[in-house]
Amino acid sequence: MTVVVTGAAGFIGGHLVRLLAARGYDVVGVDRRDAMPSAAQRQIVGELVSPGGAIDDALEEADAVFHLAGAAGVRDRRIGIEGVRHRDNVLAAARVLRRVPDATPVVVTSSSSVYGSALATGRLRAARETDPLRPLSGYARSKVAMEARCRRRLDAGGHVAVARPFTVTGPGQRRDMAFARWLACILSGQPVAVYGELERVRDVTSVADVALGLLRLAECGTPTTVNLGTGHAYTLAEMLAAAVDACGKPARVTLRPAGPEESPATLADTRHCREVLGFVPATSLEAILDDQVRFLASPDMSPELVAGTG
Ligand code: NAD
Repeated sequence: MTVVVTGAAGFIGGHLVRLLAARGYDVVGVDRRDAMPSAAQRQIVGELVSPGGAIDDALEEADAVFHLAGAAGVRDRRIGIEGVRHRDNVLAAARVLRRVPDATPVVVTSSSSVYGSALATGRLRAARETDPLRPLSGYARSKVAMEARCRRRLDAGGHVAVARPFTVTGPGQRRDMAFARWLACILSGQPVAVYGELERVRDVTSVADVALGLLRLAECGTPTTVNLGTGHAYTLAEMLAAAVDACGKPARVTLRPAGPEESPATLADTRHCREVLGFVPATSLEAILDDQVRFLASPDMSPELVAGTG
């Protein structure tokens, strides 16, 4: 079976490509960056929003498509970022959804940020897939717009499944993400900048579990929306303590004010995930961070760091 992974040079895309290849799929990686894992049988470097060419052919011929390409990063405040998000999160997805034949399964990565906050009247409440969407940031709004394009494909009789991953963590994590920044600072003795109150909470999910969840979502063939989270909330204070333990070094912490785009709390309701995918991400934070620190010391994606192959 031939599958296309867009965003194959990215953090989650790279893990997914390696997992799919290890499970015997022929993987076509697509990304604008020429940094795709060698596990992809074929690599197409190009822009998803530019019409025509090899990307369109690959999307039309695939047995399944995983659409992960996008402008990730909720805290990105570069001039013009809203235009970038619209192009990479909305237009690119719309183009993929148009090119892939209706009957071909498409799995699209949205984000937990579409829920806004898991704090309701001061109490923590896990977000369910059926909850109303309350995006707090331009990033989250672009994902809501992307999900609307997915619904259009469904309404027109096409197949699409939407995954909403929660704070994905592990080897090769994007450098702008909290743990990647924190671990690098702790290991090099630099102060660790933490945004907002240490009581804020996050549902932290292993990248290996997320890759497995995306694969199961395609294999089960159910056109649905699924949280990819653990259902466990860590405070930022607990996350910092885990990072310190993983590094075996103390941290000097500098608290910075959180922007309005920062959710005070994220937490996944995992019932639908268990029902549809037959598992719930459960890798411990300690194990995830140990892998991440090991990878920082020696950046080699050895087989035991790939979901389901270790
Ligand atoms: P990433 O930035 O590491 O990977 C995204 C990749 O997409 C990059 O390699 C980039 O070059 C590529 N890309 C973007 N726009 C493109 C375009 N128009 N044409 C071709 N290539 C393009 O991000 P990631 O952390 O691996 O996230 C993957 C997906 O999962 C994103 O859609 C992100 O929004 C979503 N997501 C990530 C997390 C997380 O915690 N990392 C959480 C929820 C959702």
